[in-house]
Amino acid sequence: MQEKTGDFLSNATLYESQIIFENYGMGNVKFYDPRHFKGSTFQYFCENEIKDTTFELELLYDSPKWSYNQLGKEVFKDGKLNYTFPVICKCRSCHTEKVYFLLNVFSNNKISDIVGVIRPEEYTERSIADLPDTNIFVQKVGIYPEQKINLNKEIVKFLNRENNKFYFKGVKSLHQNYGVGSLAYFRRIVESELIHIVELIKELPDSNKSMIQKLIDEHEKDDRISTIYDNIYQYLPQSLKSLGDNPIKMLYNLSSGGLHSFTEEEALSKAKGILKLLEFVILKINEEKSVINDIKNIIKDLKK
Ligand SMILES: [Zn+2]
Repeated sequence: MQEKTGDFLSNATLYESQIIFENYGMGNVKFYDPRHFKGSTFQYFCENEIKDTTFELELLYDSPKWSYNQLGKEVFKDGKLNYTFPVICKCRSCHTEKVYFLLNVFSNNKISDIVGVIRPEEYTERSIADLPDTNIFVQKVGIYPEQKINLNKEIVKFLNRENNKFYFKGVKSLHQNYGVGSLAYFRRIVESELIHIVELIKELPDSNKSMIQKLIDEHEKDDRISTIYDNIYQYLPQSLKSLGDNPIKMLYNLSSGGLHSFTEEEALSKAKGILKLLEFVILKINEEKSVINDIKNIIKDLKK
């Protein structure tokens, strides 16, 4: 469970909920109480040391009333667990950097308000409620200071100024869990970069230059022809085929279709998909390019 909590504290963006306890039932005593988070450690960016370090969570306030056998009304909303509390997390390495989270814990179903063994005659109506498929979730509903936007340096170098603006805004929207917003930015990048990407792939040592050029020529005659993205697969260098799927076609597909026909959740997963694929493609192109440069340098040295 610590591993899951650590991953949540490190990576979850604002309002991105994560299950911390599955199949919650009577007798389970975990996560009804903020103290279960106390002492959790996780990786986070220390602005003081300018690197990822280990942070440790401390509670800002102790709430002794939550330790009773019967939970207080204030941790419930309509019978479902729902409470919010602030925490401070400190860098274990420099002891000066700190980040504050406001955490919200909730259940998807009503849960029992009894957390320990008490006399049955003291049970309230909800004490015996023990519904199946009840999970406990946690989400960050506040982060201070604002979460740093980490941009992939290879992508920044690859994109032009205008697309870098969209890249920054897209990642920022992703952090705030705005699916349709981030998808719109990433699609603009893909729309304007896809042919550029194909041109670069054409120049890689392992590519079939003449065939890719033929596809580009056809596309230039009529840019409604999207078959270029289908047909390029067979001419890709091996490393770009390593997904077992056509990354160029997938990028094209993810950037088409009516934007507003997606739910926020669908848009969010598509936006994350575009970002991952874009990183993959650019990384592979750069890797292949650096292999050539290495060999060129070796040859140059040999000729000396
Ligand atoms: Zn530090």
